[in-house]
Parts: sequence; structure tokens; C-alpha cells
Amino acid sequence: MVVVFQIITVLLLIVLIILIALRIRRTKFHSQLPDNYKELLADYVKFYQHLNEEGKVAFEKRVEQFLAAVKITGVNAEVEDLDKILIAAGAIIPVFSIHDWQYINLHEVLLYPGAFNNDFDQHGDDRNIAGMVGTGALQNVMVITKWQLRQGFINHNDARNTAIHEFVHLVDKMDGTVDGVPEIILERKYTGQWKSLMETTIHQMKTYGSDIDMYGATNTAEFFAVISEYFFEQPELLQANHPEHFKMLKQIYRTELHG
Ligand SMILES: [Zn+2]
Repeated sequence: MVVVFQIITVLLLIVLIILIALRIRRTKFHSQLPDNYKELLADYVKFYQHLNEEGKVAFEKRVEQFLAAVKITGVNAEVEDLDKILIAAGAIIPVFSIHDWQYINLHEVLLYPGAFNNDFDQHGDDRNIAGMVGTGALQNVMVITKWQLRQGFINHNDARNTAIHEFVHLVDKMDGTVDGVPEIILERKYTGQWKSLMETTIHQMKTYGSDIDMYGATNTAEFFAVISEYFFEQPELLQANHPEHFKMLKQIYRTELHG
């Protein structure tokens, strides 16, 4: 009788271990992101569309963590699920390959309906004011317009994406200065090379013009944000037209993104 009882106990334990293992496996291959959020990612975010199944789950988890950590507030604008997903996607795309990344310098994103007034820095001649990273009283706050946010993802082949642009400024800002050199993720041995490549390119842009958005010629901080938009939206074209920049950006973002 005792032996039978022992056998049953062992069998129950084995079943329990199998169930736990299956559960761990399930949570590893699924995220908790609601299905409609996943559909929005699949419909609007090209970067996500190009990931394999494992990559998609990893991306969903990062989106989920971002939305849990950062508040999104509408200012005369309704924050819809699509806005939340696009803001989170813009945040995750640049740092997707940097696994331990957290935007510790961001607490809140303010969503405006359209261009906001020029109490904020003007963002490019033809951009109007599309977005900004807060300073002073708006420290740890990002402002973005709903219109530009959506256009950035709807037109995914024009090398322009306001959300990516603003989050790249935040990545750049993490080392204390917004100067186009993200020292927190770029190995020290490359910083000099990257800085001089940016300065030379800005000079060439001003002299000869460029297929790179001319707003990038404003300074190295804007150059870094603009060339990163190009990198994430049109990697093939960037590799063909500016192979040196493409190579450096792959170093910076530690990504295997193919040209
Ligand atoms: Zn900018």
C-alpha cells in the first residue's frame, strides 16, 4: 500500500514538473500584449513586420514594458490604441538590439493633435513642429504630435519618422549631452571617427546638398537623429548611398539590420 502511494506521489510530481515546464515555455513564446495591439503592430510597423516569430514576441514584450513605464497623455487630443502602439514602437526600434535598455530619462509623452506653437524649438523648415524632447520644466517629458506620429509610420519609405527622431535624441541625451554622440552605447574607440564623419557630412550637405534631410545639417545632434530615421526606414538605400554611415550606425545600434 505504501509503495502504491509512493508511486502515485512520484507520478504526480512528474506531471506537476511537466506542467510548470510547459507554462514557462508558453510565457517564453508569448507576450501579454493584447491581440488588437499586436494587430496594430502588424498593420503599421514595418520594422516589426520584418522580424521573425521570436523577434516579434521580443518586440511585443518591450512594447508592453515601455507602456507600463511611461505615461501617455493627450493634450487636446484623444490617445487611441494606435497612438500608444506607434509611440512605443518609435521608442523600441532604435534600442531593440540593446537588450537591457530603459528610457530612465522619460516619464511622460504628451500627445498634441497638430503642430504646437513656437514656445518650443522649431523643428525644421518643412516639418513645422513635429516633436521635441523636453528640457527645464519639461525634463523627462517628450512632446509629439498625433499627425506627425502617424505620418511617420504610414509613409514608411521616406526616411522620416518623428517618433524615431525624438527617441534617438533621448538615447543621445542619456550620457548628459545631446550632441549626436551616444556615448552610452557607442564604444569609445569609435566616438572620434563618428564625430568627424558627422561634421564632414554636414559640411558636404551645406556645400552640395544631399539626399539626407537637410534638417540634419543644423548640427550634429539633429544629424544623428535624421540619419537614424534614414537608417531605420530605408537601410538598403542608406547602405547604397552612404555605406560609411550605414556601417557606423550598425555599430551604434548593434543591429544586424540588412541593407
Ligand atoms: Zn530633432
